[in-house]
Amino acid sequence: MSYLPDNQRYSTMIYNRCGQSGIKLPAISLGLWHNFGGADVYENSRAMIRKAFDLGITHFDLANNYGPPPGSAEETFGRVLKSDLRAYRDEMIISTKAGFYMWPGPYGEWGSKKNMVASLDQSLKRMGLDYVDIYYHHRPDPDTPLEETMAALDLIVRQGKALYIGISNYREERAREAIRILKQLGTPLLIHQASYSMFNRWIEDGLQDILQDGGAGCIAFCPLAQGLLTNKYLKGIPADSRAAKEGSFLKEKDVTEEKIAKVRLLAELAAERGQSLAQMSLAWVLREGKVTSALIGASRVSQIEENAAAIQNLDFSSEELTRIDDILKS
Ligand code: NDP
Repeated sequence: MSYLPDNQRYSTMIYNRCGQSGIKLPAISLGLWHNFGGADVYENSRAMIRKAFDLGITHFDLANNYGPPPGSAEETFGRVLKSDLRAYRDEMIISTKAGFYMWPGPYGEWGSKKNMVASLDQSLKRMGLDYVDIYYHHRPDPDTPLEETMAALDLIVRQGKALYIGISNYREERAREAIRILKQLGTPLLIHQASYSMFNRWIEDGLQDILQDGGAGCIAFCPLAQGLLTNKYLKGIPADSRAAKEGSFLKEKDVTEEKIAKVRLLAELAAERGQSLAQMSLAWVLREGKVTSALIGASRVSQIEENAAAIQNLDFSSEELTRIDDILKS
């Protein structure tokens, strides 16, 4: 049976303007870093993408190297697009990135014009797309002049292979400089993709202000600290969790007693708010409107349903915020 998306898909999701651009992003976006590779179960990946779209999640975030193997998440996404979502391409914001290692030799990573252009051509082919909506430089490059990387991004927009430009993992000063250069080139920075969660608040120390002043949006990756900020690890490490999987960035040793003690207190507060901890963690990232979208990952459809429902309660009282700060500091 061919897929027909839910015709109520735009009735509940919230869409936030991205910086000073004309683009709105869903408050919750879906990233394909884990669980969408060639090594994963295709029908599960497909079901998650479809469920996300049914819930009004219009933004799907990829990168050249997502898999495993590298490149295969883009292939999975291309396959789902072709079979189910081709007719809805104009309802979607699809992003990809280049910067991490992708192929051998001096041109297969970092931020040279050569890498940025060649990698996007490969990504477009894997996804079966003519253009992506957002193209990111994935990580700062200590060697390539920032002017070259930004000029490559500007060129790609002018060629019509990307509509908007993003940067990721850039610290404050480099982000400020990127904003300046891109403005001069006439292709303003749309968005910064940065890690942000209750356990990782570095963007509050200056980056958020720089983005706001520069008219750029901010999309928060790992808003659930890869699953730590959910109820998942309260009773140990489940066998099917990310922390238990070989090769994950989240290791068993990261699930410390100290963290879980905080998670337990946060989960109690979430329950008082009528939310799961995952939902409160996402609402917290989106509080005060400084973050355009919380970029989640998922391993199953039910997580996407639970997480999308976070938008039903985004308000925090000042007492709740103080209590969260106290738990995090304890
Ligand atoms: P999250 O912090 O949202 O972690 C997602 C993981 O948490 C899931 O895979 C799942 O793990 C678990 N989880 C999610 N929802 C629930 C729930 N309701 N209850 C219990 N467990 C849950 O984000 P990710 O680390 O996955 O990153 C999200 C996206 O951000 C990536 O896909 C990518 O697009 C982007 N990203 C960008 C980076 C960059 O350098 N620019 C770096 C990292 C990520 P489990 O498998 O255990 O079920």
